[in-house]
Amino acid sequence: MPVPCKSCGNEPREEDLFCRQCGEELNEDNVLECECGAEVQHEDNFCHQCGAAFEEETDEDISH
Ligand SMILES: [Zn+2]
Ligand SMILES: [Zn+2]
Repeated sequence: MPVPCKSCGNEPREEDLFCRQCGEELNEDNVLECECGAEVQHEDNFCHQCGAAFEEETDEDISH
């Protein structure tokens, strides 16, 4: 279940990244937690706290 917008309370669709009502970022799912406890972003390849590498399944698609 999507989390209601923390700014206006609007219920977003699951695929929404931003609130359709007020534009607030709905990034709850984008924040991951490293095993060291640091909050890391989905696009990060390495933890900024402990340097742990995160598995990226899309890294094999290098076109140049
Ligand atoms: Zn909102
Ligand atoms: Zn870490």
